[in-house]
Amino acid sequence: MHDFRYVRGRLHCEGVSIEALVKKHGSPLYVYSSKTLSSHFNKLDRALAPLDHLICFAMKSNSNLGVMRTLADLGSGFDTVSGGEIQRVIAAGGNPRKCVFAGVGKTEDEITFALRKGIYSFNVESEPELTRINRIACKLKKTAPIAIRVNPNVDAKTHKKITTGTYENKFGIAFEKIPGVYARATKLKNIKLLGLQMHIGSQLTQVKPFKEAVRKVTPLAAKLKARHGIEFLSIGGGLGIIYEDALASGDSKWWNRKEAKNILTAEKYAAALVPLLEPLKLKVLLEPGRFISGNAGILVSRVEYIKRTGKKHFAIVDAAMNDLIRPAFYESYHEIIPVKQSRNRPIATDVVGGICETGDTFCKNRLIPRIEEGDLVAMLSAGAY
Ligand code: PLP
Repeated sequence: MHDFRYVRGRLHCEGVSIEALVKKHGSPLYVYSSKTLSSHFNKLDRALAPLDHLICFAMKSNSNLGVMRTLADLGSGFDTVSGGEIQRVIAAGGNPRKCVFAGVGKTEDEITFALRKGIYSFNVESEPELTRINRIACKLKKTAPIAIRVNPNVDAKTHKKITTGTYENKFGIAFEKIPGVYARATKLKNIKLLGLQMHIGSQLTQVKPFKEAVRKVTPLAAKLKARHGIEFLSIGGGLGIIYEDALASGDSKWWNRKEAKNILTAEKYAAALVPLLEPLKLKVLLEPGRFISGNAGILVSRVEYIKRTGKKHFAIVDAAMNDLIRPAFYESYHEIIPVKQSRNRPIATDVVGGICETGDTFCKNRLIPRIEEGDLVAMLSAGAY
């Protein structure tokens, strides 16, 4: 569900004309719907109401200050992966005490900064990192709250570049090794064992891998609670969104029909996971990114040139892979529509940016109503990554 739709043949966001926004701010232009952001956050928050929970928006999916401020105002925490991201949380009015600090490569400076700002927990990815955090905390005369990221070795059944929870991936510590790591960590004087964390991948469209991972990890969390008094389990992010037919998903009738069938909704996700998590009596953390911001943003771009070669029809636009990396990075799909609704004959078009790389391509041979130099196009579902 989102709030971008045609009104009298012109694309609007929450009743505001996209053309008017480009006139005011220029192009390329990202436009975000705060209503969509809030509605996605609230859907998840409501679905998880039976649990003591905290949603930490994964700001790697979108670190725009306006987006973050909207979520901070709703009470969201943040999942951060760098000192710079923690600084942005503060700049957006977010609370560092509702932040987790994740990532496999935390530097000494970043750990120092996070400790000084009093973040809620470090999501620790390796034993050397744990040793480093303990050493720095000791120097600062502080105690570092930590959760270890468990790699449950569960295939998320998503794109290989965004699969994170198998032993092929660089993330976390192997499931079997976790009890030993916690036992050793009790000897580190400046570490507090606060939780356990996992994240198996992104853009999951089925609930099954989530269920499999949670089923595997909950007995471990129960054991760590009994032995070490941990307080929370973070089940990461990963909920997928619709990329194809994204405009249609703004139409609530269409959405309700399709949603009922095969789309992973907050309700379906919670119905599957809450019964598994409730008996633990632990606080549950969630780190959704794409689910909250993905469909809440569009990238608007102007056609600079139409170029016809022997074989191809190119629309060269003023946005490029540096503005939206996903299509160049893993050939991902974004719906591309004219801002001014068109009855022109669809024509197989490559929409490309101006960067000197063939990979700077938003779509290939896509049937798009014929567009001309100067027209505006919108790339949908561009609010994440
Ligand atoms: N948590 C961790 C540890 C991640 O690595 C990611 C994404 O890569 C997320 C949360 C957010 O994932 P998503 O945007 O799919 O919800």
